[in-house]
Amino acid sequence: ATFESLGLPGPLLASLAKAGFDTPTKIQAEAIPHQLKGKDILGIAQTGSGKTAAFGLPILAGLQALPGRPRPMTARALILVPTRELAVQIDEALRKMAGSMRLTTVLVLGGVSRYNQVQKLAKGVDICIATPGRMKDLVDDDKVWLSETRWLILDEADRMLDMGFIGPVKEIASKISWKRQTALFSATMAPEISKLAEGLLREPVRVEA
Ligand code: AMP
Repeated sequence: ATFESLGLPGPLLASLAKAGFDTPTKIQAEAIPHQLKGKDILGIAQTGSGKTAAFGLPILAGLQALPGRPRPMTARALILVPTRELAVQIDEALRKMAGSMRLTTVLVLGGVSRYNQVQKLAKGVDICIATPGRMKDLVDDDKVWLSETRWLILDEADRMLDMGFIGPVKEIASKISWKRQTALFSATMAPEISKLAEGLLREPVRVEA
């Protein structure tokens, strides 16, 4: 497969070529066409499989097709992750793949001041990359509304579960409309992950790295 054959739009193909992404990885080839059609995804994938682009490229493609800018206090896409390090990596990867396309992101992480996070959310962002504890706090304090969020990604769901984030993950997800598209990625498919997936995904396509 090529990225072109997966159905990604031209401007993204150009920035992928520039980033040195020639051929899609297995998880990208399997997941991207379904996501571009609006399907939910249950992905079994480890770091190194290319999972970031597998969930990131369909969001970038969708954002390109949306008119206008995100409304104040809203995030068009929400990516929940277990750790700060992963959040930073995803932000960098998305920026690289987005190339010159207009893209606003915010990192919502615990252990640092809320001030800048709240300021960015107040303006509205395309993509919010967050750890669940701090995200739940900001949602509870009405610093961000998730009613217009169209994409929800749970990355490394098994680690979020291990770290005790399942409560906040579920509460955050419950604020987002069912009109959303959801993807859950996990290195393992333990029974608790399957249960979580059943509650958050609708007729997901299962893909494996
Ligand atoms: P990830 O599994 O998402 O953490 O990605 C692992 C690494 O592979 C990252 O450094 C990506 O930049 C790189 N990568 C992902 N997809 C591709 C691809 N299709 N071609 C070349 N490099 C890739």
